[in-house]
Amino acid sequence: MILFFGPTGAGKSVQGEMMAVRHGWKWLSTGQMLRESGDPEIQQVLKTGELVSDEQTYKVFEAAVQDAEQKNFPQIIVDGFPRTHQQAEWLNSYLGAQGHKIDLVVVLEVPQAEISKRLSLRQREEDTPEVIEKRMAIYRQKMYPVLGAFAEQDIRIVHLDGTGTVGEVHDRIESELESWQLA
Ligand code: AMP
Repeated sequence: MILFFGPTGAGKSVQGEMMAVRHGWKWLSTGQMLRESGDPEIQQVLKTGELVSDEQTYKVFEAAVQDAEQKNFPQIIVDGFPRTHQQAEWLNSYLGAQGHKIDLVVVLEVPQAEISKRLSLRQREEDTPEVIEKRMAIYRQKMYPVLGAFAEQDIRIVHLDGTGTVGEVHDRIESELESWQLA
């Protein structure tokens, strides 16, 4: 399993999907799956930028991993999970029980000004300035600190420059994965 980290607008989804298509891997985005869920309660939370409950998030995550396994995908790119220490602990025990591990964490780094520019072009329904700020704050306060716990567990983490064209960023990620013999 390869995890993609980065704030909203860093390009996790675009890059995660491209990598999955290129290698025949599964791209698994908790955000996308939650957006596609018909559950009105979840839709309400998404509009605020707050986190969906762990219970609901674990449910979509687990179902998607099981589906990927049944379809024999050799690798899974996970985008947007875990977002808190608690979720990271849950993921650890889940992966341990399944005999899987985190092969690498890729953190896409993009300066704030560039993120604002990208988000102003994206026009996702929930991308209002307040919601974006909420999601940024959650990234800084909850998601980014998860990297510290990963580092302590000796999980490999790489910080990559997420600026430039989609193709440039893709090449950067690809060569990093190659250097870890993951691609
Ligand atoms: P994303 O597409 O990753 O930017 O996620 C969009 C939204 O989905 C987030 O703002 C959260 O409301 C929700 N979400 C995505 N992943 C998680 C998660 N791991 N835990 C809780 N909520 C999540």
